[in-house]
Amino acid sequence: MAMEQSALRNWTNELSETYFSKPFVDDVMFNPRLRTTGGRYIPSKRVIELNPKYLKELGEEEFAGIIKHELCHYHLHIEGKGFGHGDPEFKELLRVTGSPRHCSPLPSERVKTYHQYQCQSCGKTYERKRKVDTSKYCCGKCKGKLKKISKIH
Ligand SMILES: [Zn+2]
Ligand SMILES: [Zn+2]
Repeated sequence: MAMEQSALRNWTNELSETYFSKPFVDDVMFNPRLRTTGGRYIPSKRVIELNPKYLKELGEEEFAGIIKHELCHYHLHIEGKGFGHGDPEFKELLRVTGSPRHCSPLPSERVKTYHQYQCQSCGKTYERKRKVDTSKYCCGKCKGKLKKISKIH
């Protein structure tokens, strides 16, 4: 069953109140045209767009993580703070709110041209055209174990 727009908005506001102790007063919507991105925040419009395929395929718990990630961008942006992935404030807010940096790949996208991996020890990410056997290959930097990931923007 597809989630209604109003339910998505309530859910986002609930997560915002719970983890950020602030209301979410702008717009959130599903964008079915997003492909391998779980969600994105558009600063010029103050809009959070979410990929409905991720809710359908990964479930509510993982999807809540995607919403929280976008809320980190959102709250920092409207408060005039650094809201980019490389900003220390962003990294800190991800940490204190327990928001993920990445989410799982879509089961239906697993045969795509790009494969992304992250080292479970040092966090370094890798993009490979070909699938990597993570039981054989490890992180080039620290020899840590690699895990397949999907990006959230
Ligand atoms: Zn590593
Ligand atoms: Zn992001």
